[in-house]
Amino acid sequence: MASFGFLGLGIMGKAMAINLVKAGFDVTVWNRNPEKCAELIALGAKHGDSPKEVAATCDITFAMVSDPAAALAICQGEDGVAAGIGHQRGYVDMSTVDAATSQEIGNAVTQAGGRFLEAPVSGTKKPAEDGTLVILAAGDQSLYQQAVPAFEVMGKMSPYLGEVGQGANMKLVVNMMMGGMLSIFSEGMSLGMKSGLEGEKILEVLSAGAMANPMFAIKGAMMLAEDYTTSFPLKHMQKDLRLAVELGDKLAHPMPTAAATNEAFKLARKEGYADEDIAALYKVMK
Ligand code: NAP
Repeated sequence: MASFGFLGLGIMGKAMAINLVKAGFDVTVWNRNPEKCAELIALGAKHGDSPKEVAATCDITFAMVSDPAAALAICQGEDGVAAGIGHQRGYVDMSTVDAATSQEIGNAVTQAGGRFLEAPVSGTKKPAEDGTLVILAAGDQSLYQQAVPAFEVMGKMSPYLGEVGQGANMKLVVNMMMGGMLSIFSEGMSLGMKSGLEGEKILEVLSAGAMANPMFAIKGAMMLAEDYTTSFPLKHMQKDLRLAVELGDKLAHPMPTAAATNEAFKLARKEGYADEDIAALYKVMK
C-alpha cells in the first residue's frame, strides 16, 4: 500500500488527513504550527519535521494550505517539497490557487524528478469530514491513477481535467459563481427583512422553487441565527474571487458581477470578518 504525506492541517486538511488515517493508510503529517498535528498523531499518523522530509519519505504527498503564497512557501526553499521529492515520488497540491502558481509548483517538482498533480476541491468543512468532496484533478496521469484510492476516501468524485492549470481554473470558476450567489442572496435576505418580510419565510419560498440549493439553506439558517462559526473562511473566498477576477483580466473576459462580488468581500474583510464564515457577508449588507 502506498504511503501518504499530508501538509497543512487547517479546517480542510485536518478533516481530509483524518479520513486517510481512518481508512488505514500509512500517513505522515506536517503543519507549520506543529500543535495542529497532535490530533492526527493520536489517531496513528506519523509526524514529519518539514515538507522536505515528508515528500522524501512518502510515495505521495498531499498539501492543503491557504493561498498561492503558502502553496509556494511549502514547495520552495531548502525545507520545501521540491528539495525532498526525488525520483518519481508524487506531489498533489489540493490548495485553491491560480493556474500560474500551480504551474510554477509543478515545474519545481518535475525538475526535481517528481510527478505533480493539482487537485483543488469543491465542498467545505462538512463534505471534507464526510469524505464527499469533489476533487478537481489535473496534471500527471500516472500520479492521478496512483492517487485515486486516496481520492476515493476524501471525495465522492474526482474527475481528471487534463493539463496542470485546468483544475485550478475549474475551481476558480465554481467559487466565483458561489461567491456571486452568496452576495446576491445576502442582499436579497437583508432587503426582504428590511421591507418587513420574515427571514424564515424568504428561505421557505426560495427552497420551494427553481433556486433551491443547499448553500442558501445552510448559509441562510446561519444568517438568521447570527452564527458565523467558520466552515469556509471569508478571507479564502475573497482570495478565490481575486484570482478569478485576475483570470478574467488575463483573458480580457468581462466579469462585472464577479468584480462587484470581490469588492463586497473586500469590504467584509475590512469590517473585520476575514476569519468568520463566508455567511458573515450578510453582516455587511445588513
Ligand atoms: P485554514 O483553516 O485557514 O488553514 C490554512 C492552512 O494553511 C493551515 O494549515 C496553515 O498553517 C497553512 N498555511 C498558511 N500559510 C502558510 C505558510 N506560509 N506556510 C505553511 N503553511 C501555511 O484554511 P482551509 O479552510 O483549510 O483552506 C485551505 C485551502 O482549501 C484554501 O486554499 C481554501 O481556499 C481551500 N478550500 C477551503 C474550503 C473551506 O470550506 N474551508 C473549501 C474548498 C477549498 P497554520 O496552521 O500554521 O496557520
